[in-house]
Amino acid sequence: MNIPQSSNPRVVIIGGGFAGIALAKKLSKQEFQVVLLDRHNYHTFQPLLYQVSTGGLEPDSIAYPIRKVLQGYPNFYFRLAEVLKVNTDVNLVDTNIGSLKFDKLVVATGTETNYFGNTELEANSMAMKTIPQSLNLRSLILENFEQALLTDDLHEREALMNFVIVGGGPTGVELAGALAEIKKGILPKDYPDLDTRRAQINIVQGGDRLLPAMSEKASEKAEAFLEELGVNVWKKLRVSGYDGKLATTNTDISFRTETLVWAAGVKAVSLKGLDGEAFVSRSKRLLVNEFHQVKGFDNIYAIGDVAQMESEAFPHGHPMMAQPAMQQGENLGNNLVAESKGNSLKPFSYRDKGSMATIGRNKAVADLPKFKFQGVFAWFVWMFVHLYFLIGFRNRVVVFINWVYNYIKFDREARLIIRPFKNHFKTKE
Ligand SMILES: Cc1cc2nc3c(=O)[nH]c(=O)nc-3n(C[C@H](O)[C@H](O)[C@H](O)COP(=O)(O)OP(=O)(O)OC[C@H]3O[C@@H](n4cnc5c(N)ncnc54)[C@H](O)[C@@H]3O)c2cc1C
Repeated sequence: MNIPQSSNPRVVIIGGGFAGIALAKKLSKQEFQVVLLDRHNYHTFQPLLYQVSTGGLEPDSIAYPIRKVLQGYPNFYFRLAEVLKVNTDVNLVDTNIGSLKFDKLVVATGTETNYFGNTELEANSMAMKTIPQSLNLRSLILENFEQALLTDDLHEREALMNFVIVGGGPTGVELAGALAEIKKGILPKDYPDLDTRRAQINIVQGGDRLLPAMSEKASEKAEAFLEELGVNVWKKLRVSGYDGKLATTNTDISFRTETLVWAAGVKAVSLKGLDGEAFVSRSKRLLVNEFHQVKGFDNIYAIGDVAQMESEAFPHGHPMMAQPAMQQGENLGNNLVAESKGNSLKPFSYRDKGSMATIGRNKAVADLPKFKFQGVFAWFVWMFVHLYFLIGFRNRVVVFINWVYNYIKFDREARLIIRPFKNHFKTKE
């Protein structure tokens, strides 16, 4: 990998997400050689992926080059690499570009979509965990409307305009709200020759309320906001199969749809060599102690979504959210520095700053530690918080300008089919 030998201990970080970047920033001015490996050369701001999928934002404005985050730090190395295996007995990681020795290894690989073993659903549904997946979804949504214009078959047309989102967490709720706004504000103008009132947006939730990790009030309000926007909210219903045309459920309800988005579960990205039953939880997360060490190892750590730190307050680990990931990265960084200087280590303690979800223009729900509120004010707070945590000044400015423009014009200008998803629309480039 052409990483020079150094007298400083080598810390290899796998993953440039919220956790990996927070840690790398803490270590970049310290006496370590830091090597960050990621399969993408950019950090993805996942909370805004749904806006890319629905044409509200360009992908560039929610991605940030990892090399730029840590520019100017001589002890920092980035390699674009997919980590394949960890050889714990000889402290070596194998990647698609070669192998690398480590003194300390930090796994920050996040999560991937969980289909719970349903291969049919995996093959036919759309996921929204990465920028390429979000761009695929954007293309598919737009291509379906183009195709709906071409068919005389009413059933086919309705299936092309019928959207099913499985999963009533923040991702599902935010996507459903954004699609409803497109239906109302954009489709009638873009497709005057298509009866877009027939487009249906369905959100299917297995449990008895949306946003189950938030307060009951937030759930109720989110449901009311979605219904106000014309979304069909299905609760206590589970999608059990989808062949690309028909989604079946655990009841006799089924949906004819050409677009099914699976937002009903995630599992940790596991690595060969670090998948032992002794230290992996049911959701494939790595069991760690309060100092982020993977169970049974002194020099292997896990932070962010991939880590499960069980405590009395969090018996199943911390929520899979950006805040715990960043806080864990920072705490581990401080501890590695403290350890190198012979100082005592600080056990991790999560400061819950609350959670939020937006449903659409002027509509959001916020559960902060001291206040819970919904509506316009929550929407402004949601926007401010997302702008604040977005990496890069340019990205903040671009996103802000886009939001102001979209708000004033009721528009989403990034509704572009750059790379067609369906064979039907593929042409010579
Ligand atoms: C659609 C969506 C919306 C969300 N909305 C919110 C929200 O509103 N608020 C909130 O707090 N949280 C939200 N989250 C969750 C939040 O994004 C995650 O909790 C957070 O990204 C976790 O950070 P992480 O660093 O653990 O992992 P990630 O940010 O997922 O980063 C993992 C990194 O590891 C890399 N990687 C993985 N495997 C390998 C490998 N084998 N080799 C090399 N590189 C690898 C990936 O490329 C990635 O860059 C959302 C998530 C999604 C998908």
